[in-house]
Amino acid sequence: MIRLHLTNEAFEQDIRPLLKSFFSKEELVVSFGGRPVNLPFGAEADDETADWGRYLLAGDWRDDGFVLSLYRDGDLTCAVQKEEKQVPFTERKKFRDEVKRAVYRMLAAETGKELPWGTLTGVRPVKQVLERLEAGECPESIDAFLKEEYYCSEEKRMLSLAVAGKEKELLTELDYKNSYSLYVGIPFCPTTCLYCSFTSYPLSRFGHQTGAYVEALKKEIAASAKLLADKRLATVYFGGGTPTALSAEELRDVIRTVKQYFPTETIAEWTVEAGRPDTITTEKLQMLYDEGISRISINPQTMNQKTLDVIGRQHTTEDICSAFAEARRIGFDNINMDLIIGLTGENAEDVETTLRKIGELSPDSVTVHTLALKRAARLNIEKEQYQDKGAVQVSDMLTASVKFAKEHGYAPYYLYRQKNMEENLENVGYARPGKEGLYNILIMEEKHSILALGAGGATKLVLSGGERIERSENVKSLKDYLERTDEMIARKHAFFEQYKGLY
Ligand code: SF4
Repeated sequence: MIRLHLTNEAFEQDIRPLLKSFFSKEELVVSFGGRPVNLPFGAEADDETADWGRYLLAGDWRDDGFVLSLYRDGDLTCAVQKEEKQVPFTERKKFRDEVKRAVYRMLAAETGKELPWGTLTGVRPVKQVLERLEAGECPESIDAFLKEEYYCSEEKRMLSLAVAGKEKELLTELDYKNSYSLYVGIPFCPTTCLYCSFTSYPLSRFGHQTGAYVEALKKEIAASAKLLADKRLATVYFGGGTPTALSAEELRDVIRTVKQYFPTETIAEWTVEAGRPDTITTEKLQMLYDEGISRISINPQTMNQKTLDVIGRQHTTEDICSAFAEARRIGFDNINMDLIIGLTGENAEDVETTLRKIGELSPDSVTVHTLALKRAARLNIEKEQYQDKGAVQVSDMLTASVKFAKEHGYAPYYLYRQKNMEENLENVGYARPGKEGLYNILIMEEKHSILALGAGGATKLVLSGGERIERSENVKSLKDYLERTDEMIARKHAFFEQYKGLY
């Protein structure tokens, strides 16, 4: 167990992910109050009944600076690491950055470990790199900034700069400031994957409600089409869940409803996540192609049958290959495949197998995810059962994927991170030239507004030229979505009304 004790709640959210990254397998206990230096919690140093954990990190916030102390094995008489800094508490950002760097130095010195992303713990590490590039700063100066401010490793600095450079190039062609994107969520899947934390209902139990869902969604589509009428619609993304869990007729109905109500002539990209191979049929692929869907995603996650069985997929690796071959035969020339590194029980050899088989299929883009343990996922809820099957050497496996991408002509074009990712790593989208998923960049770098429809959809309004972002979330539960469609539509209209003139 690791303990974090702070004067008050300030900066807890900044320190917590660093502790979780250095001590990923240990429980973290957090407490507040008092002056924690030397004698945390007002306790006596020789109090043998207290459990101080394997490490205790104590943070003392003062008006003119801070003191951080790290104690080992309950010995509170002498800190094994200590840092003090003079910085006004009122300068919050500066104070926070100094605290994070000090915590990092102390933990790195004590554990002998370095984190590839250093003190960068946020979801969008490339966002500020892109902003700096767009402001005209040279790559060398941004590289130095990432190194000095965040202790980022050379590998991650190079990756961030490569991704931001690619994004800048693609965004220049898009006139993103005067456009928006549309997300349409379909919350059904054949079964629920072990690691799933999305809004997803298994067809075996909820399949009888797809028709009602399509009707409610069509109503929301029709009612939302004018919300951003003075902007161009740039990209449309059907996600979920798995949109192809619907029948061909139902999905066509949804796509045609979008075409009926939204202006389609400016759309640069139509993506459908055909995610699960067990939902893909020739009829559905042909329908998507005929409807003008330009990009699809067929997501194996792994090409090892034993892992597919463990994570709750009810299809074979051959199903993945035949769905892919069928999509190519029909004419799709922009197919993405998603992979996950760090899946339960997989070792470096398993990842090599997956990469080799994906290489043989030769998709146009590959998105490599590092497994994140989300609270709601079955993998987390039942983690004791799966603990001995945990992934090892995740960063080595990720390195193998980087090599694979380079050898097969893919360049990184978007990147994001999630909380609780294995070894604090990242998800990277790689694509061959001209096959990048534009929607992925737009949503990840928060470049323009996203109008999201369907259960679990999160609308994001980018306000005042990107200075501010406001969110409005649709209900997540299928039952609520079906029963409260009108109420939800009214709420969304009120949300847009509230920020009128700012987007
Ligand atoms: S395919 Fe995706 S959305 Fe569906 S259950 Fe699996 S992880 Fe969840």
